[in-house]
This record gives sequence, structure tokens and C-alpha cells, in this order.
Amino acid sequence: MRYDLFTQHTIRADVHFGGTGLHTGARVRVVLRPAPPDHGVVFYRVDQPGAPAVPARYDHVVDTALATVIGKNGVSVATVEHFMAAVRVAGLDNVRVEIDGAEMPILDGSAKPFLELLQDAGLQAQDAPKKCLRVNHPFMVAQGDAYIKVTPSDELRICYTIDFPHPLVGRQAYVWKFDPGSFVRDLASARTFGFFRDVQSLQSRGLALGGSLENAVVFDDHKVLNPDGLRYRDECVRHKVLDFVGDLGLCPFPVFGAFEAHKAGHALHNRLLRHLCERPGYVRFVPAAAAVPPRTVAPPRASIYWKPPILPVG
Ligand SMILES: [Zn+2]
Repeated sequence: MRYDLFTQHTIRADVHFGGTGLHTGARVRVVLRPAPPDHGVVFYRVDQPGAPAVPARYDHVVDTALATVIGKNGVSVATVEHFMAAVRVAGLDNVRVEIDGAEMPILDGSAKPFLELLQDAGLQAQDAPKKCLRVNHPFMVAQGDAYIKVTPSDELRICYTIDFPHPLVGRQAYVWKFDPGSFVRDLASARTFGFFRDVQSLQSRGLALGGSLENAVVFDDHKVLNPDGLRYRDECVRHKVLDFVGDLGLCPFPVFGAFEAHKAGHALHNRLLRHLCERPGYVRFVPAAAAVPPRTVAPPRASIYWKPPILPVG
């Protein structure tokens, strides 16, 4: 897959897959279809009368408690962030996402299966220029001891730190510069994670109903419960970078800036985007090709991990 920042792209062919929602536990089917230039990434709830549209945009985010949920007119789609990370890293601008339920499938808990689906479909260049946003002014959003700082940059750079009081997590930091090949190699496979002590209370609140060791890293007080252990020693912070890339993907255009995030999460990611996009002068449009040269995305290495069931529909 060639990463091209000059023109907009859609997918070459329909993509069908299915799976279980992490929080709802419901099985859903998804069809990705090509979309025209300037359409953006738009979800369509095909299980609802008239298949209402929910644009994948920061200003349609309606909940950020445990995942990023987008909604419009009372219709929502939850847990879109891993899919959006794959969309942005693949360089996909325009796609219809037809879904017959309220939550995207969690698949293996990472972005890797989504990237593989997009790579299998292939991208089609469209006759429309791609635009990007460049951060214009340094600023910061914070809540308690969590914060995200951003400074102007001609490329997307992310420095993320987390600090969990757990012997296998603790303080972890990861620095990543936008590079699709590096995303495939270093971030795409990092799974969502949680703590066994939280599972009961989450499930009693109707959350994490689809969670299992096949789609999340789960820690008890001392160890990893997944039989195969971690995919990376610092898988947790890598997953946070993946989440951040996905949440930034809810900006209608790729964003260039140098971000430093500490103990942040979906809520702060969204506050940052609202700040960036809604205050005049904080970002400016740049022709994307001027910022980063096109690159070639290396195909993912043969999967050594558990392969999620990708169910064809129809
Ligand atoms: Zn995540």
C-alpha cells in the first residue's frame, strides 16, 4: 500500500467483516464501501430505519468514558478509535461504514486486523486534493495530573506517558513519529488492556460484556492472565499511542503537530481536538504533500498472533 498525501483516497472494493463489540458483547456485521471525494468517514446504522448517518468526527463524540463513542440524533456507534487509527495510517479519506449494531467489532483488541482488511481491499486515488491541518500555536489541555501539550511541527509526533500502579505496567513512555511502516511494526498490534479487579464492576454496569483474553490484555494484581503474555513489553503505552492516533483521526483532516500526552485518555484527546478545531487560528490548512513525502507502507509481517475470525457477510 503506497501512502500518498497528494490526493484523497477511497477503497478499491467492498470489505465485509464481523465480530463482537467489546462493551455491548453484541455481534455486528460491517461493510466498508467506496465513497466519493470529500465524503469523509461516515458510519451508517443499517439496522435503523433509513440507515441514519453518523460522521466519524470529533464534534460528534458523545461519550468517552471507556471508548470513543460517536453519535448523531440519538443514534451512536461505539469504540471507533482502533478502526480510525487504521483508516488514518492507511491514508484512507472517504469510506462508507455500514454497521448493523451500536459498536464496532473489537476483533483482537488492536488495529492490526483493520489495517489488514484495508490493505486487502487496496486504496483508490481520487481526483481531489488532500488537505491537512498544521498546529499554529502551542497550547495545552489538562485535567488533574493528566495533560496533553502540543507545539507546531511539520509532521505528526507523539510522546505518550502512562503511570499505572501495577508491577507490570508502572510508568511507560513511547515516542512515535508518523510513519505507516513503523505503525504496522510497532503500534498496530498493541491491544487494549484492563485489570481483572475491574471486570466485575464493569460488567455489572453493562460494560466489557464482550471482553475476553482473545481481545484484551488483562492483568490481575501480579501478572498477565493471557496465556501468550504480552506482544510488546510496553504494550500498554503503545496501545495508548494507537488510541491517540485513532482519536486524532476524528479530525476531518490529518493533523501535523508535536503532541506530548501524560496519563491522558479518550476524554482529553477529544477536548484537545475541540480546542484545536474550534478556536480560530489554532490550526491552518496546509497542502499535505508539502509536509511529509509519500512513503511506501511495508506489508505487515506474517501474523504470529491469534487471528481474529473475520466473517464474510452475505
Ligand atoms: Zn483502545
